[in-house]
Amino acid sequence: MEFTTLITSMANFSSPPSSYRGRLAPSPTGFLHVGHARTFWTAFERARRAGGTLVMRMEDLDPERSRAEYAEAALEDLRWLGIRWQEGPDLNGPCAPYEQSARRAIYLDAWRKLLRGGFLFPCHCSRKDLEAALSAPHESASGKSEPLDDEPIYPGTCRTQAFAIKELEEPGPVNWRFRVPDGEAVEFEDRNLGPQCFVAGRDFGDFVVWRRDGGPSYQLACVADDAAMRITEVVRGEDLVKSTARQILLYRALGLEIPRWFHCRLVVDGNGRRLAKRHDALSLRTLRQQGFTPMQILSGELQEKAKRRD
Ligand SMILES: [Zn+2]
Repeated sequence: MEFTTLITSMANFSSPPSSYRGRLAPSPTGFLHVGHARTFWTAFERARRAGGTLVMRMEDLDPERSRAEYAEAALEDLRWLGIRWQEGPDLNGPCAPYEQSARRAIYLDAWRKLLRGGFLFPCHCSRKDLEAALSAPHESASGKSEPLDDEPIYPGTCRTQAFAIKELEEPGPVNWRFRVPDGEAVEFEDRNLGPQCFVAGRDFGDFVVWRRDGGPSYQLACVADDAAMRITEVVRGEDLVKSTARQILLYRALGLEIPRWFHCRLVVDGNGRRLAKRHDALSLRTLRQQGFTPMQILSGELQEKAKRRD
């Protein structure tokens, strides 16, 4: 037997099915752009190199902004790029349904567990109340520039108000916040960005897990889904790096195993701003129509285009 053949057959024989499970989680609130393409490609590559499974999950929780045509376009654009997944709304699989709008029971269950565990409190502050409380100038304690995903630090107004409704079955029309352990450093190793550390109560405050309009927050839905779908590595944009600290607190409170993290650098425009869905000229749709190839979109070429445009 030739040496190369032997290596190949040994590899086939000795590698067990990979337990790696990654995910792609687009929000169907607009067309995907170059930045999404590169993050999703990284997620695809990492799952493929690990010989693992990639899950497609449609994050369509926002009923006002989510549209079926955008969900369809996202799947189609990602397929066109060459990205393939093994489970998803189009393929089904053991963790179905793969649309967040159909997974409310899972989120409610997580909400109940957090409530029973004493991690939550109801918050009756209106947006106006919060703005008034936050209008007093305060310096960013970390001295760092504000991360992109920032949610203002909650002033704690409702934190200590007694409530005796731990047996509640439904959240009702009120915001529910997670009480963060003030002063505790939440640390994690990011596989792309290196060691990360955020201090609860200083870098982020008590965050919403259930919204008064009747749905889970991004933080809660994301953790409940990644756990239920047995995701072992979360690959997503750098704008969510601080959310990861919040989510680690949710994993702990729910007694769930914490996945590994890989946050991708964001594609920025000429002014250093992240690409948003407003950059229509850089949507995959438009670029395809203009004759760009997946290769061109995934290389740095389009980033240059973004810079020249602004
Ligand atoms: Zn409040």
